[in-house]
Amino acid sequence: MLQTKKIWLNGKIIDWNKAKIHILTHSLHYGSSIFEGIRAYQTEKGPAVFRLSDHLKRFFHSSSCLEMKLSFSKKEIEKAIFDLIKINKVSECYIRPIAFYGKKMGLYPEGASLNMAIAVWPWDKYLGSKPIKTIISSFIRLHPKSIISSAKIGGYYVNSIFASMEAKKKKADEAILLDYQGNIAEGPGENIFMVKNKKLYTPKTFSILPGITRESIIKIARNFKIPVYEKDIKPKELKSADEVFFVGTAAEVSPIGKIDNVLINKGEIGDLTNFFQETFNKIVHGKMKKYFKWLSYVN
Ligand code: PMP
Repeated sequence: MLQTKKIWLNGKIIDWNKAKIHILTHSLHYGSSIFEGIRAYQTEKGPAVFRLSDHLKRFFHSSSCLEMKLSFSKKEIEKAIFDLIKINKVSECYIRPIAFYGKKMGLYPEGASLNMAIAVWPWDKYLGSKPIKTIISSFIRLHPKSIISSAKIGGYYVNSIFASMEAKKKKADEAILLDYQGNIAEGPGENIFMVKNKKLYTPKTFSILPGITRESIIKIARNFKIPVYEKDIKPKELKSADEVFFVGTAAEVSPIGKIDNVLINKGEIGDLTNFFQETFNKIVHGKMKKYFKWLSYVN
C-alpha cells in the first residue's frame, strides 16, 4: 500500500503514522464502522473527485443505519477531502472516509465516542484492466433481511473476505457471489454486468450494494441508446453471456474472461466492455462535457 503524509482524524490533519485507535474500539471488535470508497482523477483543470456528492449521500445513509450522528456536515467533509488531496500532493487517488464507534465493549454502541477519519492514497487499478478469472463462490451474499444492503458497513465485508479467500485458494482473481435465491448478486466489492446480443443486463438492487459506478454505467448505456435491464440472472445464463464485466470505484470497469471453467468471449475483452471501459475512463478524466456534472474539482 502506498503511503501518503497526512490523515484527517476528527477534524484535524495529522501524520499518517500517528493516526491510531484504542484496542477496545467498538468497531474493531464488532464491525460497526461505515465507510466509503471514492476516487479522484487527474483532469485538465487539476484533480477532480468522481461523484463526490453521491458518495457522501451514501456515507450519511450508512451512518444513519447505525444511528451515528456525525458531527461534520457534507460541506465540511468535502473540504476535508480536498484539503487532504492538496496537502498530500496526490492527483489520482483513492479516498477512504470512515466513521467508527470508539472505546466501548458490549454490542449496543450507546455511550461510545463517534470518530471519523479520512485517508487518501494512490491506488492503481484494483483488478487490472485485462480480463480476469473468477469463480462462483460457495459463500452467498448476506440475506437482505439480515442487514441493510444499501449501507456500506464494515462488518458486512467479512462475507466478502471469505469469498475472496476462496477465490485465491482456487487460483482465481475474484469471486462472484450469489444471493440466497441462487441469483447472481455481485463481486466482493464490485457490481456485475453481462452483455447478450448487444443488450446489457445487471442484477436488481435486492441483495447487492447499489453501486455508484453501476448507476453511472446504466446512465451511460441509456445515453448511448444501449438497451439495459435489471433482472434476475442465474449462473448458467451468466456463463453463456457474450461478455461479463465488474464495475466499482476501486475496480472501475474490469472485464471477466473466465467464470469457473468457462471462458467468456474466448477470454478476451468484448466490444461493449471495451466501450464502457474507455468511455468511463474519458468521463472520470474530464474529457466528456456531458458528464462534467459528475466531477468535483479540488481547486
Ligand atoms: N458492491 C460492493 C459490495 C462494494 O463494496 C462496492 C464498492 N463500494 C460496490 C458493489 C461498487 O460500488 P461503487 O460503484 O459505489 O463503488
